[in-house]
Amino acid sequence: MSSASVAVIGGGISGLTAAYQLHKEGTSFVLIEKSDRLGGLIFTEQVGDFTIDAGPDSLLIQKPAAIELCVELGLHNQLVSTLQPRTAYIVRNGKLHPIPQGSVFGIPTNLEALLASHYLSPQAKIRMAQDLVLPPKTDESDESVASFFRRRFGKETVDYLASPLLAGIHAGNVEQLSMHALFPRLVEAERRQGSVMRAFRNRPTGSTSTTSTHGLFRSLTGGLQTLTTALTQSLPNSVVKSGVEATSISGSGPFSVTLSSGENLSFDKVIFATPAYATSAIVQSLAPELSNLISSIPYTSIATVAIAYPRSSIDQLLNGTGFVVPEIEPDLSIAACTWISSKWPGRSPESHVLLRSFVGGSRAPQALSQSDQTLITTVQHDLRSLLDIRVPASLARVYRWPRANPQPHVGHLELVAQIDRHLSTYPGLQIIGAALRGVGIPDCIAAGRAAGHAAAQ
Ligand SMILES: Cc1cc2nc3c(=O)[nH]c(=O)nc-3n(C[C@H](O)[C@H](O)[C@H](O)COP(=O)(O)OP(=O)(O)OC[C@H]3O[C@@H](n4cnc5c(N)ncnc54)[C@H](O)[C@@H]3O)c2cc1C
Repeated sequence: MSSASVAVIGGGISGLTAAYQLHKEGTSFVLIEKSDRLGGLIFTEQVGDFTIDAGPDSLLIQKPAAIELCVELGLHNQLVSTLQPRTAYIVRNGKLHPIPQGSVFGIPTNLEALLASHYLSPQAKIRMAQDLVLPPKTDESDESVASFFRRRFGKETVDYLASPLLAGIHAGNVEQLSMHALFPRLVEAERRQGSVMRAFRNRPTGSTSTTSTHGLFRSLTGGLQTLTTALTQSLPNSVVKSGVEATSISGSGPFSVTLSSGENLSFDKVIFATPAYATSAIVQSLAPELSNLISSIPYTSIATVAIAYPRSSIDQLLNGTGFVVPEIEPDLSIAACTWISSKWPGRSPESHVLLRSFVGGSRAPQALSQSDQTLITTVQHDLRSLLDIRVPASLARVYRWPRANPQPHVGHLELVAQIDRHLSTYPGLQIIGAALRGVGIPDCIAAGRAAGHAAAQ
């Protein structure tokens, strides 16, 4: 039997942060992680002089939890801003069109930006401007991201903005993802000002002196794994059980957690920082209804394909951070491509460019069944077509992320409220992680901190 009072199950950024907080507050705990490696989706590979973030690569600074944690861990000197120019592009008719300055989520907030949005047809721009006069939605019900954009800005913006940019971040289906759960700022903008464009024109984001000089995102010089490594190093080795899976839980405080090794450990409190489907399986026999609710959160899978080319062979200047590809564009398979060597300093030798493409998500659910070579060939085909890259790759790496992107569908916030109601009947249990209250790393960190603090009381 363990003498620790808290179990943290899952050693991604959510669980690591909860463990860090428990340690900071002097509470005894055990961190249980299925894999031999801590960090979950955060994984950086160093290949020669290339630093490749295989999963996430950016920390959004508008939500301060991630930056605050980096500073607290002594990583402030390693925080880096995105390089200029920070232009992102949208593909239309096989060509890259820049998202003009003065756009928020790709939505132009002034006439200049609207006119310069060449990824939209003239008719679509006229329709989009109607956002300024259309009445706001009167009821408070949730709706899909597609429904919101269709209402406010017209159908074409669903295909060329909402789907590749907003749903694309989540590798999800624009017709299913929840507007209320994912983009509350846009919902609020419509509700308060009657028009999204007017709301953002009056209160432009990204325009404080810090964000306009240094951009909205940060990373760490050695890649984002620097953060999970620092968190891991802050914990005593003895409290980490890696390479072993939690399989079930029973009891009512103390709880008995069964591991794949056959061990049973006893804890007063348990923090689940596992993906929703894993949490659902662990609590199945203890709390079947809770388990069913959690398992209803779907996931999509994605592969990231990192490819380096000699810089001298690239005609395009790669002036920006990368591009997104609308699903409606024919003959292209990648969903997006980040120009890593133009976005972050020091990620590739000067002699090369490093590009990272995304394949899969809701638009290509079978993508991960393809071989590495097929995925690389697919990506190279698209890069040849869009960037005219015709030379062989100097380096190619495929990273597979099965069931990695939780999908907050319409009604997600109500589902979370239901989960919370059920959970409140099991005092001592907490559920955190990307599936419930925010996918971004800052949200995961904030939830991990709060859960660790609550369990320490
Ligand atoms: C390709 C990609 C790019 C992304 N880019 C960004 C980005 O740039 N910025 C950003 O903010 N967010 C990004 N995200 C989202 C972000 O990475 C995740 O939301 C976040 O890392 C999730 O952390 P987590 O700890 O909640 O979950 P995870 O990282 O999934 O960790 C869960 C852990 O639980 C473990 N586990 C599972 N089952 C068990 C079990 N039974 N017992 C014990 N352990 C178990 C797993 O092995 C895993 O380590 C991206 C996501 C993906 C997939």
